[in-house]
Amino acid sequence: MYDIKAYYEAESVEEAARLLAEKPNLKLIAGGTDVLIKMHGGQLEEAELLSLRKIKSLENIHVRDDGTVAIGAMATFSVIFHNAMLKKLIPVLTEAAVSMGGPQIRNIATIGGNVCNGATSADSASSLFALNARLKLQDEKGERVVPIREFYLGPGKVALNPGEILTEILIAPEDYLGFGGQYIKFAMREAMDIATLGVAAVCKVENGNFAEVRIGLGVAGPTPLRCLEAEEYARGKKITAETLKEIGKLAVRSTKARTSWRASKEYREHLVEELTQRALKTAVVNAGGAEVV
Ligand SMILES: Cc1cc2nc3c(=O)[nH]c(=O)nc-3n(C[C@H](O)[C@H](O)[C@H](O)COP(=O)(O)OP(=O)(O)OC[C@H]3O[C@@H](n4cnc5c(N)ncnc54)[C@H](O)[C@@H]3O)c2cc1C
Repeated sequence: MYDIKAYYEAESVEEAARLLAEKPNLKLIAGGTDVLIKMHGGQLEEAELLSLRKIKSLENIHVRDDGTVAIGAMATFSVIFHNAMLKKLIPVLTEAAVSMGGPQIRNIATIGGNVCNGATSADSASSLFALNARLKLQDEKGERVVPIREFYLGPGKVALNPGEILTEILIAPEDYLGFGGQYIKFAMREAMDIATLGVAAVCKVENGNFAEVRIGLGVAGPTPLRCLEAEEYARGKKITAETLKEIGKLAVRSTKARTSWRASKEYREHLVEELTQRALKTAVVNAGGAEVV
């Protein structure tokens, strides 16, 4: 059922990076909620697994001296949801965290695994896109930092080089301070389900105008994406129902939705137009603006 040929555990990132360099066949496993499903489904045979679960430094969540929020790749969704600092500074991410899976899955699934799995439906992705998150990757030779928008290459495909480990997710102060946000997960049922569409909107408000808007979408294309045309339109505009309507319409133009058994392309586009407006409406209030009626 689980075709495991070998299993290794590293106690530090350096040890994990060394093992990956020595044994290129190793497959990283964090919470295992995607890896084990793949093994169970026969997509991963004779697996040689390298577990990151003993690397406690990867669970760390803190604010650096320069105000950058750093979230360890092994932080689980439960830990993220209950983290008081994240709730205060970046609630759009904690909302996404609690919308993910059910309690048992959230207790074991990690944010690093969610990102590295490369799914457009990943519940963390829309918020991380809207927050301009950057990813710290480490291998035996050193580190590099990649914007999340450059990391997702296609369905299930990410820009991890062989031997690399995602260690931290970074959110710079200019990307969250003063912003209000909202994440909406639209799924076909109330109970645990994969998103039919995920929308994260963050905005900054000045004198009743949008100073900045960022919109991240999941399942609106083969990878999570940003609605740059709508964001550009919004900059400096008075916050009214008409402006929100136009932003919703323009958001659809950035999508590459497709028909699947969950929903048709047209239905997904309708959701993008409608839910972008709803998310932004709440984001405005969370950013200290007046409610749009
Ligand atoms: C019942 C069920 C419900 C689910 N519901 C949801 C849901 O509502 N929303 C949602 O978004 N997802 C959902 N998922 C999918 C899954 O739980 C998430 O994608 C989860 O975040 C994966 O994290 P993990 O730690 O379990 O990753 P793993 O399964 O351990 O790994 C996933 C992938 O990432 C790689 N990887 C893991 N960590 C690292 C790292 N630090 N560096 C480099 N590569 C790494 C692994 O090699 C693997 O390719 C669900 C899964 C199940 C089984």
